[in-house]
Amino acid sequence: MQTSIEFQNVSRHFGEVRAVDDVSITIRQGEFFSMLGPSGSGKTTCLRLIAGFELPTAGRIVLGGRDTTNVPPYERDVNTVFQDYALFPHLSVVENVEYGLRMKGVSSAERRQRALAALEQVALGRFGDRRPSQLSGGQRQRVALARALVNKPSVLLLDEPLGALDLRLREQMQVELRQLHRQLGITFVYVTHDQGEAMSMSDRVAVFANGRIEQVDSPRNLYQRPQTRFVAEFVGGSNVLADALAETVTGERKAVSVRPEHIRVLASEIALPDGHVGVLGRLVDIQYHGATSRYEVEVDGRIVTAALSNRDDGADAARIGQDVRLAWPSAAMVALVA
Ligand code: ATP
Repeated sequence: MQTSIEFQNVSRHFGEVRAVDDVSITIRQGEFFSMLGPSGSGKTTCLRLIAGFELPTAGRIVLGGRDTTNVPPYERDVNTVFQDYALFPHLSVVENVEYGLRMKGVSSAERRQRALAALEQVALGRFGDRRPSQLSGGQRQRVALARALVNKPSVLLLDEPLGALDLRLREQMQVELRQLHRQLGITFVYVTHDQGEAMSMSDRVAVFANGRIEQVDSPRNLYQRPQTRFVAEFVGGSNVLADALAETVTGERKAVSVRPEHIRVLASEIALPDGHVGVLGRLVDIQYHGATSRYEVEVDGRIVTAALSNRDDGADAARIGQDVRLAWPSAAMVALVA
C-alpha cells in the first residue's frame, strides 16, 4: 500500500518557540519530497510529526486518508533513517538489519531472508557478517537504509542522511537514493539544509523559514519562479532588487529577482542592448568557480552578483575597481510577492 501525507494547519510549539507554525501541505504517494530550510526552520520537527515522535499542538496529520493523531509511532506505516545511523556496534550488519523484525516477533528464518533481501537492495549483499566498525561511512549509511527498508514501509523519512559523508560520496549516494526511490515506488520525505541536494533529487521541495512554508514547488519552478525574497536568495542565490533599485529598472518599488547568470557585465560607456534594463556600479570582487566566475558589483551600496561563463576562457570582462554597466533582459526579472 502507498500513502499520501497531509498536514492540515499543523503547528508544534515548544513554549514560546513556534517550531512549526500553521503548515498545510499534501505530499503525494510515491513522491520524492524534500523539506529544505536553514537550521532551526522546523524541518526535523515536521518529520518527527509524520513519524509520531511529536504530536501537533494544533491541526491534523492524515496518513493515507487516516487521521493519525492517536496512532503511536510503531503503528504508522513509516520508517526513519537518521543522520547518525544509530547502528549497534556489537551486532553484525545482518543482525542490525534484523533487529526491528526480532522485536516484532517475526520468525528467525523469515527475518534472515528479509534482512538479506534488504541488504541486496542497498548493494551490501556480501557484507552481512561484518561489524559496523568494519564498514566505510557510506556503507554504514546503507545499513541504516536497509534497516528501514526491511519493514517494507510505505513512507521512508530521511533526516539529513548524507550529512556525515564527504562531498563525492554524498553525490554518489544522491544518485543511488534516486534510483532506490524509483525502484521501490514508495514515498520519500527528505530533510536537508542543502539546496543543491534538495534540487537534484526531489520531485517537489517545500522551502521552510521560521516554522512556516515559503513555497512548495518543483525544483525548476523554485529556481525559475521564486515567489518570495527568501526563496529567491536561499535557492540558487538570486539577486533581489528592492526599493529604489527596483524602481530604477522596473518603474515600481516592488521587489524583483534576477538570477546572476542573466546579468551581463559591460563597460560603463556601452549603451544598454535592446530589450535590456540595467544599472551602473563598481566591480568590487571576482570569484573564480571553474565553469563560471562571479562578479560582485556595488550598486548604491548594495552588492549585485553576475555569473559569467568561462566557456571561452577569455580575459576577465572587467578589472576590480572599474565602473561597469550591468545589463539583463527585462524578461529575466521575476516579481516577488513577499
Ligand atoms: P536543523 O537543520 O538544525 O535540524 P530544523 O529546521 O530541523 O533545524 P527543528 O529541529 O525542527 O529545525 O527545530 C525548530 C525549532 O524548534 C528550533 O528553534 C528548535 O530549537 C526548536 N525545538 C525543536 N525541538 C524542541 C524541543 N524538544 N524543545 C524545545 N524546542 C525545540
